[in-house]
Amino acid sequence: MAKIIVYNNDTNRMEVYYRGENENMPYNTGTMKVKEFRGSSRSNILWTDKRTMQAWNSFRYLYGRPVYIGFAFKRTYEGGHGLQSQHYAGTAFDVGQTATNAERARIRSTAVNSGVWSYVEPASLTPTWVHFDRRFGTPACSTGGYPLIRRGSRGNYVLIAQDGLNTLGYRTGGLDGIFGDQTYNATRQYQRKVRACRRWNNRLQHMEIITRICYRYRKNRYNN
Ligand SMILES: [Zn+2]
Repeated sequence: MAKIIVYNNDTNRMEVYYRGENENMPYNTGTMKVKEFRGSSRSNILWTDKRTMQAWNSFRYLYGRPVYIGFAFKRTYEGGHGLQSQHYAGTAFDVGQTATNAERARIRSTAVNSGVWSYVEPASLTPTWVHFDRRFGTPACSTGGYPLIRRGSRGNYVLIAQDGLNTLGYRTGGLDGIFGDQTYNATRQYQRKVRACRRWNNRLQHMEIITRICYRYRKNRYNN
């Protein structure tokens, strides 16, 4: 049984589901099993949000046939994607690895034309798979990346921050996607330690440094 945390964008609440690997993802209409969303991730906790699942439903309906999903979710400490990747937020998919070039072109054009994805990577960057994601919020800095989060924030980006802080040994009072007092205190403690980015309003750097340090710590510090 995987624990699946879903941010409900409509209610601004975190929802928790327990599903077997062969069951459908929450809010999925029968085209994506837990094991497909997990891909090669070995985590027993997965997360996504409702709109990403709905975007997949729309895309998959328009495409009209099965789509091989190579990778979707990864914990930050598992790596495999760039810093601040949407895969760590559970809002990105790498699909079509087993498809022919013609099929991949159709997957890509369907993804673009569907209008449900925030970003579809051009074929020039990923010729042997198709990456698309449903990212949210305004990037915290002009070069892109995760949005600003602060006390009171909820959602997948808070989960990433909590996961990173926990991995580094800071207590956030759980991995629940809610930026409460304990996550705030953990963030402050972390920021005091990382003197290079003490400014509270520069959260992008904090996230970047958290994810970078997590890569280093992922083997020995992580245990759930
Ligand atoms: Zn990708």
